[in-house]
Amino acid sequence: MSAAFIMFFGPPGCGKGTQAKKVVEELDLAQISTGELFRKHLGEGTALGQEAQKYMSRGELVPDEITIGMVRERLQEPDAQGGAIFDGFPRTGAQAEALDDLLAEQGHKLCMVIDFTLPIEISRARLLGRQEGRADDNPEVIEKRLRDHAEIEASVMPHYRGQAGLVKEVDANRSIDEIYQDVLVLIKSCLA
Ligand code: AMP
Repeated sequence: MSAAFIMFFGPPGCGKGTQAKKVVEELDLAQISTGELFRKHLGEGTALGQEAQKYMSRGELVPDEITIGMVRERLQEPDAQGGAIFDGFPRTGAQAEALDDLLAEQGHKLCMVIDFTLPIEISRARLLGRQEGRADDNPEVIEKRLRDHAEIEASVMPHYRGQAGLVKEVDANRSIDEIYQDVLVLIKSCLA
C-alpha cells in the first residue's frame, strides 16, 4: 500500500476535524492539524507554542515560517510515514507551495483535496451551537472566522483547483456517518 497524503478543506464547523479523527482511527494515517499542534505546543510550554499564542490569541494566522517548520517536523514522525491527513493546513498560498515541496522532498505528492462543502448559514449555526468548548467560539470571533475562511479559500484553493481531478467535493450538510462513508471511499482510492 502506498503512502497517501490528503488535505481536508472546509469552513469552520464543517466537521473536517471529526472526520479526520475517524479516518486515522481506521487507517494507517497521521492527522496533522496545525491548530491542535499549536495548542499542544502551548500546553507543553515550548517556545514555539508561546510564539504562536501571540497570533492565536488575536485570531491571526501564525507566520508561515513557524507553521511550515512545525509541519516539516511533524511529517518526519513515524506515524506519518504511511501518509497523513492535513487539517487546517495549508491556509496560505505560501503554505500550499511549501507543502508540495515538503512532500516532494520525501518522494510523495498530495493525492487529493477533500473540500467539505457547507452553506455559510449552516456553518454559522453550527458554530453558535457549540459555544461551550473553545474560547474562540463566541459570536464576534465566529464572524471573523467565517470571513477569514473566505480569504483562506481564495488564497489556497486556486493552487489546487488548477490541478485537474485533485479536488473532490463532499457534502458536509449531512450526518457524520453519511459524510464518513464518502470520505472513506475517496481516501481508499488514494491508498490503492
Ligand atoms: P484551528 O484550531 O485550526 O482553528 O487553529 C487555531 C489557530 O491556530 C488559528 O486561529 C491560527 O492562529 C493558528 N493556525 C492553525 N493552523 C494554522 C495555519 N495553517 N497557518 C497559520 N496559523 C494557523
